[in-house]
Amino acid sequence: MVKRALVCGAGGFIGSHLVKRLKSDGFWVRGVDIKAVEFGETSADEFVIGDLRDPDFCKKVVDYPFDELYQLAADMGGAGFVFTGENDADIMHNSCLINLNILEASYFADVSRIFYSGSACMYPEYNQMDPDNPKCSEDSAYPAAPDSEYGWEKLFSERLYMAFARNYGLDVHIARYHNIFGPEGTWKDGREKAPAALCRKVIMAEEGESIDVWGDGKQTRSFLYIDDCIEGTVRLLRSDFMGPVNIGSEEMVSINELANIIIDISSKNISIKNISGPEGVRGRNSDNKLIRKELDWEPNYSLRDGLEKTYSWIKSQIDESIESVKIPDISLQALKEKSGKSFNFEDSNQIVGTTSKQ
Ligand code: NAD
Repeated sequence: MVKRALVCGAGGFIGSHLVKRLKSDGFWVRGVDIKAVEFGETSADEFVIGDLRDPDFCKKVVDYPFDELYQLAADMGGAGFVFTGENDADIMHNSCLINLNILEASYFADVSRIFYSGSACMYPEYNQMDPDNPKCSEDSAYPAAPDSEYGWEKLFSERLYMAFARNYGLDVHIARYHNIFGPEGTWKDGREKAPAALCRKVIMAEEGESIDVWGDGKQTRSFLYIDDCIEGTVRLLRSDFMGPVNIGSEEMVSINELANIIIDISSKNISIKNISGPEGVRGRNSDNKLIRKELDWEPNYSLRDGLEKTYSWIKSQIDESIESVKIPDISLQALKEKSGKSFNFEDSNQIVGTTSKQ
């Protein structure tokens, strides 16, 4: 019998790549998101548009004992979205509701295996003060002290998934992603991450100009190419290992080094201007000891190889001046304005469209 997968957040960056992978593995795939795929068309057999904050909608789409359920839907973005503090209430409220609803619906539908996309942002800030020597091994999570509400929500939600595994026997598998990047990711409009934002700035800069880089540029990070992320994700879900486990790259660079690699790829004469802006922790790098041991996985792509592919895709987007799908405003304020004085889900949570290829 053909296996069935459900991808929540299938209109997003990682979700849309994951759908392609599951199709090539022979699955029948249902994708769910509050918006359509931003770049290109979905490869899903069925794509349902609706709001996973609504428990009734959630139960409608999680209506079958799926062989594999991947939960990637979240209210998130890069440093400009997560670290300013302006979106904290929505980030926590929206993503918590989605995870609560999906777990309850999965329990009722007897879903076989569930993947949850956590984040390295849940690691404590006190272990990430030294840019040259950050500590992000899985066992360093406690005492908890994430530096953002996004990180706190991710930590709460991974505990929620583990509690459902313990008390209700759900087969959950939890990753802590570290900065995933690649083609078909958001590259403008405020939710983009550093690699895409820097590619865009370099592409748009004229010869001899400078690009703005937030902070002193000495803060460090590692970045994982999307194809490696998808392989790690699928391998984790299909294993007996529950996690939480890092899925990331150990190739750590400073943000100025990242910008310089991109400038080098462009072959342009461009300089860096460090300006104040949201930065996050001083240093972060994936620690892959556990995933190497448990899943025999490690990244195939170097940072430079991944950036070359990403740069050329963003350049093609800019050259063609393709307008991306407008990301809907999913803040509580927008819902309140839509529904008058009282908070009301009814308007926003219907299935507004499905596509079926069968
Ligand atoms: P993304 O923003 O591209 O995808 C998330 C999707 O969730 C979006 O398409 C969005 O429309 C959808 N969504 C949000 N609210 C929804 C709702 N109420 N109902 C239905 N759909 C809703 O992000 P991504 O980069 O693909 O990340 C996927 C997951 O991985 C997220 O949970 C994210 O927190 C996690 N993660 C990503 C990274 C990264 O670097 N990309 C790093 C750590 C963790």
